[in-house]
Parts: sequence; C-alpha cells; structure tokens
Amino acid sequence: MPVKYKDYYETLGVPRGATDADLKKAFRKLAREFHPDVAKNKKQAEEKFKAINEAYEVLGDPAKRKRYDELGANWQSGADFRPPSGWESFGRGRTSAGRGPGGGGQEFHFDGTGFSDFFEQFFGSTGGRGAAGFGRGGGFAEEDMGARGQDIEGDILVTLEEAMRGSVRSVSVRHGVACGQCGGTGQRNRRPCTACGSTGQVAKAEAYQVKIPTGVTEGQRLRVAGRGEAGAGGGPAGDLILRVRLARHPDFEVEDHNLIYQAEVAPWEAVLGANISVPTLSGHVSIKVPPGTQNGQKMRVRGRGLPQRGGGTGDLIIETHVEVPRQVTDSERKLWEQLASGSSFKPRE
Ligand SMILES: [Zn+2]
Repeated sequence: MPVKYKDYYETLGVPRGATDADLKKAFRKLAREFHPDVAKNKKQAEEKFKAINEAYEVLGDPAKRKRYDELGANWQSGADFRPPSGWESFGRGRTSAGRGPGGGGQEFHFDGTGFSDFFEQFFGSTGGRGAAGFGRGGGFAEEDMGARGQDIEGDILVTLEEAMRGSVRSVSVRHGVACGQCGGTGQRNRRPCTACGSTGQVAKAEAYQVKIPTGVTEGQRLRVAGRGEAGAGGGPAGDLILRVRLARHPDFEVEDHNLIYQAEVAPWEAVLGANISVPTLSGHVSIKVPPGTQNGQKMRVRGRGLPQRGGGTGDLIIETHVEVPRQVTDSERKLWEQLASGSSFKPRE
C-alpha cells in the first residue's frame, strides 16, 4: 500500500534551493504562528504544527534533506508514492520490513503520533528495522514452540509542553493480529486458511491510550506491552514501541533537560545592562542583563528547563547575541560618531 507523498518544501513555504538559514527562519515563523499554545484555532493549528515539525525534522537535517531530495522534484503533494527502485538501499528505508513470512505485505500505519506514514516509512526511527534484527528472517522454524510477535515501532511527536506536564495520547495502529478463522496457525482442517492467506494474521486497527510521562527525552522509547504484532502458534504478542521525538520549538533548543534561548540585545543594552523579558514554557520572566555583557555570554535561570525523570528540573540558559543595527537614522549616526571619537575602548589592543 503506497503512502502519500509529502512536499516538505511546500509545507514550509520555501523553494527547493532554500539555504539552511532560510529553512530555519521559515520554520520558526510558522511554528510561532501555529504553536498549539498560542494559536486561536487550536485543533487546526495542531495539525499544521505537526506538519511543519515533520517537514523541518527532514529538511532541517542535512542528511535527511539529501535523502529527501533524491526522490526528485516531480512529485505532487498527496500523490501515491513509491520510492524509485534502489532508493531504499541508500539508507534506512523500511519498505521491506515488517512483511509477513508469506510476503503478505503486513505494514503498519499509525495515526495520532504526529507523523505521517510517509515520514514513518522513510525518515522515522523504524527505518532499517529489518536490518536491526527485528525481521522474522528465515521463516518459522520455531513455530511449534510459539514465536513471539514482532514489536511495532514508530515515532511520536511530543511537544515540550507535553514533556513538561505529561499527557495521554490516543494512538492508533493498523497492524497484524492473529487470524480469528484459524487461530493464527495459518491452517484450517489441514488446508491453508483462506481468511488470512495462510499467514495466520489479519490486519486490524486498534487505538491505544499512550501515557507520555513528564520528563521524557528525545529518543526515549515508550513501550506499550503486548500491543505489537500477534505471536504465532500461541506465542506472546510483541510490544508497541514509540520513540519520542521532541517537537522543535520556535524559541528554545533542547540540551538534555536544559532549554537554550537566544536573546538578542542591543549594543547599548550589552554595555549599560538592561532588564529584558524572556519566554519560558510557563510564561515570561524578566532577566537582568548585567553591564558589560559579551556576545555569546550565557546566563542561567535555575529550574526553568524541562523536568527530569525521578525529580529535579533542568535550567533555562539564555545566550545573549548583540544585534547591530543595519541602518541608522541621521541623528543616531551622530550619536555613534560622538561615541566613536570620544570612546577609550580599543577592541584590537
Ligand atoms: Zn487464518
């Protein structure tokens, strides 16, 4: 079953040749506009926010972007997509993973994770899963003893706000379950079961409530026991494993449990000191920029980062960037000229 092509450039509203800086700028602008916490129409904004995140997750990563560009520019958004032949061999394509032993074409489709099937199949953490040893390999030698079902892996997009407060998400997975007609054996009355094509499995969509605990981190695997593929011959089911992908935030970078915020300051603010307003995940705080603050200097606001599992909270780290005005008015130029002639500051000595 083909997945729908996603035009990530269109999603971010940038041309295919956009620079990394253009991409970042476009992402930040859109992410601000559609961030679920600030948008007026939350439901609509949430869908858009997820799409923006997915697009930037791919285009904002040079290796993934290269891979995406290899698909060519002629695909229409929403068109049925199959990768060009040989494309999956470049990397982590999952197109052959998760198939039933009889080539039954068992595939997983997620809903509610925040990522599209297109992403999941070609850019998600499950890519290359077959090669990682999860595949069934050479058939069912152990069938008599009952083989454990495969784990189903996918990505789940978690916002920083969710990581902070925790949440419960409804995720649905279409996947293989034991065939009711033959009880998963693939045979009825010693004949191949027609209901499942003798694979012992049929596709079924099931919805689960997945708890996102506070303090989740990038890459953390949330395991829902027994919600993977059905076992064969009476074996236990595999697990559903969702790998956390923290949503990019327009204001913060994440480093462990710390949030990094880049604060732009005017040259006179850096020299004279100033009180500036800085966003946190729970409202703005006022920060004192000390006199003589250097470009790139860091300030730490304790306890305003992300919570840690087992207690404690990370910090908000503010990195100052002195912005220089590109244009000045005549009267401003006079002031700078006064400063230039009267200042004892010698930066190159
Ligand atoms: Zn059957």
